[in-house]
Amino acid sequence: MRIAAIEITARGVVQGVGFRPFVHRLASRCGLAGWVENTPGSVVIHIEGDAAALSRFRALFGSEIPPAARVTRLSVRKAASTGVPGFTIRASRRDGIALSTIPPDIATCPECAGELSDPSDRRHRYPFTNCTNCGPRFTIVTSLPYDRERTSMASFPMCAACRKEYGDPDDRRFHAEPNACPACGPRLYVRDGDGAPVETDDPIGTAAAAILGGAIVAVRGLGGFQLAVDATNDGAVRALRTRKRREEKPFAVMFRDVASVRSAVYLAAADESILRSPRAPVLLAPARARSPLAPSVSSGLPTAGVLLPYTPMHRMLLDRVDRPLVMTSGNATDEPIAIGNDEAISRLRGIADLFLLHDREVVQRSDDSVVRRVGRGIYPVRRARGFVPAPVTLLRSFPDVVGLGGELKNTFCFVKGDAAYLSQHIGDLEQAPVHDFYEETYRFFLRFLGARPRAACHDLHPAYFTTAFAERAGADRLFALQHHKAHIYSALAETGFSGKAVGVAFDGTGYGEDGAIWGGEFFAIDGIEVRRAGHLAYFPLPGGDAAVREPWRTALSLLRATLGAAEAESAARELFPGIPGTSVRRVLEALEKKINVIPTSSAGRLFDAVSAICGLCVRSSYEGQAPMLLEGVAARAVAGTYPFTLAEEGGQLTIDWSELLRGTVADARGRLPAKVISRRFHDTLAAATVAAAARLAESAGARHVVLSGGVFQNVTLLSRVLSGLRKRKLTPLIHRQVPANDGGISLGQAYYAAAQVAGG
Ligand SMILES: [Zn+2]
Ligand SMILES: [Zn+2]
Ligand SMILES: [Zn+2]
Repeated sequence: MRIAAIEITARGVVQGVGFRPFVHRLASRCGLAGWVENTPGSVVIHIEGDAAALSRFRALFGSEIPPAARVTRLSVRKAASTGVPGFTIRASRRDGIALSTIPPDIATCPECAGELSDPSDRRHRYPFTNCTNCGPRFTIVTSLPYDRERTSMASFPMCAACRKEYGDPDDRRFHAEPNACPACGPRLYVRDGDGAPVETDDPIGTAAAAILGGAIVAVRGLGGFQLAVDATNDGAVRALRTRKRREEKPFAVMFRDVASVRSAVYLAAADESILRSPRAPVLLAPARARSPLAPSVSSGLPTAGVLLPYTPMHRMLLDRVDRPLVMTSGNATDEPIAIGNDEAISRLRGIADLFLLHDREVVQRSDDSVVRRVGRGIYPVRRARGFVPAPVTLLRSFPDVVGLGGELKNTFCFVKGDAAYLSQHIGDLEQAPVHDFYEETYRFFLRFLGARPRAACHDLHPAYFTTAFAERAGADRLFALQHHKAHIYSALAETGFSGKAVGVAFDGTGYGEDGAIWGGEFFAIDGIEVRRAGHLAYFPLPGGDAAVREPWRTALSLLRATLGAAEAESAARELFPGIPGTSVRRVLEALEKKINVIPTSSAGRLFDAVSAICGLCVRSSYEGQAPMLLEGVAARAVAGTYPFTLAEEGGQLTIDWSELLRGTVADARGRLPAKVISRRFHDTLAAATVAAAARLAESAGARHVVLSGGVFQNVTLLSRVLSGLRKRKLTPLIHRQVPANDGGISLGQAYYAAAQVAGG
């Protein structure tokens, strides 16, 4: 018999996910000797034995990998055989990058779900059941390295039965750090709306009964509190909106199983696997016209955010109520999610009628993640629970740097070696209560990555929180990077693309290098160089933030620019009957005298304006509402588009939108339905984008087009642009790991700073 040996190194999400026991089982089954061990950021496997057994191991390895593991890089090399007897799991080497050893939280696995509903199992109906394949991870970590003593499970000493499982390499709970059972683990209990104890031996049943009676129940979940409400009860959902001060922004809904999800939205096979995946994100999917959900859940949007229960507690609650539940972050609008029991009772008093609590501390605040599906893969919208702190793997190693993120949907990002660690979604830093969350989380990452950032990169905007914070970031050098360039760099970082390309960043707001508000940008990319090469033609934006809240103002400015002041005024009277004539005249006057007016090339504002012109959203109650409503009504297919022209202006390619505007206004005044105008608008903007990108690609000799920016969350626009580019034999590159919106720009900032430092 010929004895051979190989060493396999696996990188990615490979620790705390049952990887070593899996290797142990597989090696033993194949009759191989050797060992497996965790090293910083990877798992190293040494196996030796008969050559046929080795190839059997390698063949089975790929197909039997644990569901929560994600191998991003696998290397195999020949090794010298050592003659060790049998196969062992070696103790971890605990040096180097420590944060990389913490996996993200993992949704309940099928085996644990089976035990939960098995009356003969000792974990029958135990709401904290978990194993090496599932359970809390990042959200319970207090310090590092990752083991039970340094998690919020430290206060629950394991009983003899649990300890036996924990120590047995053949057990599914071998080294499952949060391992627990009814005898030794965390417990649920209930408090009323004032925080007073409620006597019950069935906390889930008590919570379920309250929900079925129309109450709002605060539930302590994995990454913090959630507010749960019967999603079929319109009155209860409205009460939640009033109390949470959240007028119209859609709520995510949790369903018992995939079959019940299908009663509310349309799901393709790929959607189903996203919902069932260990990350269990909220998926934005097309809503059915006839659905059990109350109308106030998504307030006129044709999509709904749906998810499946991802902890045993959620499963049990959903089984008991047997109807979909709104599951929204436990906070008042604009505040971070509450995590502590006392904190929740004080902050959510007046919002929640009942509290379903437990005694396992939530250490890391983490909201539910949100994704869309594009093609067969996910397209992230908000990256938190289930994703963080798994890194984005970069093309090569860099010195330590940090990207501090933007102002809205903030995340920050540390680059260490070839890994980029994004924080969980922090939130909108315009809100002071979010600042503490940012600083706490920043310090956590800094400490546990052992990072010594040589550079920090912030946005060009002088008034952002992160721009001021940069001085305190603890870095040697500071870089300021233009917002939309950061979007483009983030896509370059995650795709690993290097070469010539055209970048398109369509977005709401970003401070431009010329002091204007950018947001409809084209870039020439060459390796790590990103240069502005074109944009949507500028138009005057009246009143800055007021225009964002009241899209009719932007529309009026575009009407004036296209039709002249007099005609704009009469068009406004027709199109915005709810807006007083005096307000219209005041805005026109401000535009005339250029008072508080800033030029902008923002694609997001163009969407706002067309949404207002169609009568869909004259005033906006949350960020992105006007464009979302406009996308929502778009008909599947409509004949005709509007004209547009490309022009050269001072070395920049510009898209002139005036013909497009004239067309939408004529259609709106001609009483064409919004669904027709919306479709034509989307098709026209997509055609203009593709034409501009193609022209720039041709002159640069590029074949790739990078798409980023919040406007590309609009999949109606995105899919048209993708197919248009492909028709022109151009290869589009889109986000798959971080959001196209501002949740992703910290990666771009970090990547830029890393390249600058590495380049000298
Ligand atoms: Zn499990
Ligand atoms: Zn136990
Ligand atoms: Zn942006």
